Amino acid sequence: MATITLNGQQVEVPDGLNLIQAAETAGVTIPHYCYHPGLPVDGNCRMCLVEIEGARGPQISCNTPVKDGMVVKTDTPAVEKMRKGVQEFLLLNHPIDCPICDQAGECRLQDYYMEYGQYQNRSMVPKVEKDKVVDLGPLVVLDQERCILCSRCVRFCESVTKTGELVISNRGDRSRIQAFPGKQLDNAYSGNVVDLCPVGALTSKDFRFKQRVWFLETAKSVCTGCSNGCAITVDFREGQPYRYKPRHNPQVNDYWMCDAGRLSYKQLNENRLYTAILGGEDTTIGKALDALVARIRNVVASHGPEAIALVGSAHSTLETQFVLRRLAQEVLKTSKVSGATLTPDWEGDDLLKKADRTPNRNGLRFLGIDHDPATLRSWLEAGQVQLLILVDNELGLEGDDTWQALLAQVPAVALLTRTRSGWAEQVACALPIANHVEQFGSFVQAKGVLQKLGKAYDPEGDSAPALDILQAIARALGTDFGYDDIEAVWTDLLKAYPESFPGIDSFYGIPEHGVALELAAVAGK
Ligand code: SF4
Repeated sequence: MATITLNGQQVEVPDGLNLIQAAETAGVTIPHYCYHPGLPVDGNCRMCLVEIEGARGPQISCNTPVKDGMVVKTDTPAVEKMRKGVQEFLLLNHPIDCPICDQAGECRLQDYYMEYGQYQNRSMVPKVEKDKVVDLGPLVVLDQERCILCSRCVRFCESVTKTGELVISNRGDRSRIQAFPGKQLDNAYSGNVVDLCPVGALTSKDFRFKQRVWFLETAKSVCTGCSNGCAITVDFREGQPYRYKPRHNPQVNDYWMCDAGRLSYKQLNENRLYTAILGGEDTTIGKALDALVARIRNVVASHGPEAIALVGSAHSTLETQFVLRRLAQEVLKTSKVSGATLTPDWEGDDLLKKADRTPNRNGLRFLGIDHDPATLRSWLEAGQVQLLILVDNELGLEGDDTWQALLAQVPAVALLTRTRSGWAEQVACALPIANHVEQFGSFVQAKGVLQKLGKAYDPEGDSAPALDILQAIARALGTDFGYDDIEAVWTDLLKAYPESFPGIDSFYGIPEHGVALELAAVAGK
């Protein structure tokens, strides 16, 4: 630790930080544009100038490492004057088009203007005109006039994706961001430059003009695009998601997420099933549940409990997987529990994307649920299954012809599904379930980091979290698990798996950045 004097107060700050970070830990914000903790320092914007005792003139905080005994002033009239000067300089050629700018409400130029604006235009010359609505790539549009040349976007493409599509060309007030001639900003992580851009120069083709950001609410969640499970925020309004943005998690995704994951929010409401289906007809969830429970009783009476197979998936939350296992073992008394998930892989990379496109395969491993498709296949091939209950598992859509043929032989299939598909209309019954932003829960990602999901909004129509529907089935069969909330599930989960989740004593006790679980403990499962 280093002891520094910050604005007259002695504070202890961790070693190895720069002054922006050190001041932040002491609750003092030093304004900045070009500095970003995930990028190499550039020091070009000069907004973070501060006074340091003994230094020759003002110093930029982003490139000044904290040292024991330092005396730093961030709130003097001289510092404030410098900030006003920088702000005035950055706005000299800015179009000041906030009313039509998509960044309004989350723009640093706007925010700092309120604190450090000159408020009176002293410029006597016309503004320099540059290109507007520049199509940079599939996801990103550039307005060169709004750009403050902080170079965050250039540094991202140089140091993170190492694809180097962007450059600052020309000199002086003609300087501008552009893609190299003949190149497009089309790397797999291009959307991150929109988050990085502190002003309205880079905007998202997908999000722009859809919502004013002050109308949006935000929930913390996890991307389900692949098994990396990038930490995200979901921005939503009235039950409608509008965008995913990466949330800092040094254990999982640092500050970034891939474009495919970013756009996967569009699938949340795609083709959703909001009513139950019984024998191809829409019905109430109560009638469908009654029919399913009657079917369970009949199968048990005529063929025994082992004729029922309960199949979860690597798309379900850990809590759903746990309740599914309890339902199978303690209520249905069948040993046929599986998590076989046939979602096809995609191409992974060395940055974040993993080939496995399921967010919680490791959850199945930690709960000891067999997820080998061969096991499920052997049950079906042997004709042992009279009733197959699939939970958040699109086996009938993702399996090949052989799987289709095997499924066709099962006398009754029941689905707990998010999707209204032809398959959901063919099976004996389909019950609508919530997606991952409509419920609390957790996932264990590829490296074994357990992360919790916050709930953004309630599920629509009759859809409900799968674990609530599984509980309702258990209740109808005489067992009440008593899970009124997610915390109650965790109380039992920790009792059932005392070794698997060390250091966690409750759902809400899972820290913001998650907990790295011991993957070696479940290796090979
Ligand atoms: Fe910075 Fe945005 Fe300009 Fe890139 S486009 S240099 S991120 S202001």
